[in-house]
Amino acid sequence: MKRKLFKATVAGAMALSTGFMMVPTASAVGEGPDYGGNETINTSILTTYEEMVSFLKNQEAKQEHMELEVIGQSVKDRDLYLVKYITNPNNPTILFLTQQHGNETLNTEGALEFIKHLGTGKMKGVLDGVNILILPRLNPDGAAGDVNFSLEDYVADGSYNLTRYNANRVDLNRDHVSRIQPETKALHDNVLGVYDIDYMIDLHHQGTSSERDGELVSGSILYPTTPNVDAEVLLKSKQLGAVVFDAIDSKGWGHLGKYNGGSAETISRNGIAVEYGISTLLFEMRGMADHYYEPYVLGQKSNGYLIKQTVTTLDATVRAIADRSIENADTSFWDTLPFQNTRPSE
Ligand SMILES: [Zn+2]
Repeated sequence: MKRKLFKATVAGAMALSTGFMMVPTASAVGEGPDYGGNETINTSILTTYEEMVSFLKNQEAKQEHMELEVIGQSVKDRDLYLVKYITNPNNPTILFLTQQHGNETLNTEGALEFIKHLGTGKMKGVLDGVNILILPRLNPDGAAGDVNFSLEDYVADGSYNLTRYNANRVDLNRDHVSRIQPETKALHDNVLGVYDIDYMIDLHHQGTSSERDGELVSGSILYPTTPNVDAEVLLKSKQLGAVVFDAIDSKGWGHLGKYNGGSAETISRNGIAVEYGISTLLFEMRGMADHYYEPYVLGQKSNGYLIKQTVTTLDATVRAIADRSIENADTSFWDTLPFQNTRPSE
């Protein structure tokens, strides 16, 4: 049976009316609201595929340095877009990948916000030192709920549901070796195999109940953990993580744990590091937009700080690469950063 929620709290209604960019409060992270049956989870405030495409085309028309490329199509024939800022081929290049899992949405919202920033004076000079590739929403079918299986037990209200899987019910982040799905094939054939990429951040969302030092985290990070990764690639991955940790954990709303991930190379964090020598970082933000498993779903009152977390991450890393300060980033924090644990339920 599909859970329907009509119990919108006053705060929830306020969050709805103020939209995405509600200013987060300092305490938002630790005890930020989760779903728990108390809050409306409405998917209609998220950017649809059509809105995203028209935004990207609009930005391309406005921005001198931005170029938009269609790198392939999803199972349901949606174009997959790559946003490119390539000013000097000799500069290092970073790729930001979002929404391999369709129900992990706010990283895409943040990436779109960041694309807008790249067209403003704020980022003046940064593009002289770094090439930036952004692939927003690799899984547009799952994000639109346009899939070949039922989502009737998913919890979100709204005109559609969102799922982790692509239309064929495949987890794209387990398809990086065999590349059977058109989305992963397009990423490898037309992005990873074509551009000379140095760094990649793979942006996801995790459950709502992970904590570090007894406080709920705003996210978690991890470098490649396969034994087959080159030592230099691993070091640069840890430096990428150091830049992100320094930028996020110092914020009132930021609190990061170490993600406890495996060594399988079917996962992008491991497989892409080994196959292409790209230094990778997994970043898992707190909570998902929709799921059949309720404890994974986060109320939209947290959207403001989570979107800001993505924008801050992208901004900090491109700046650290552009001025080469990333090469001196201190990776020793990794030795003491604890793995996050799941808060026991009450
Ligand atoms: Zn994910």
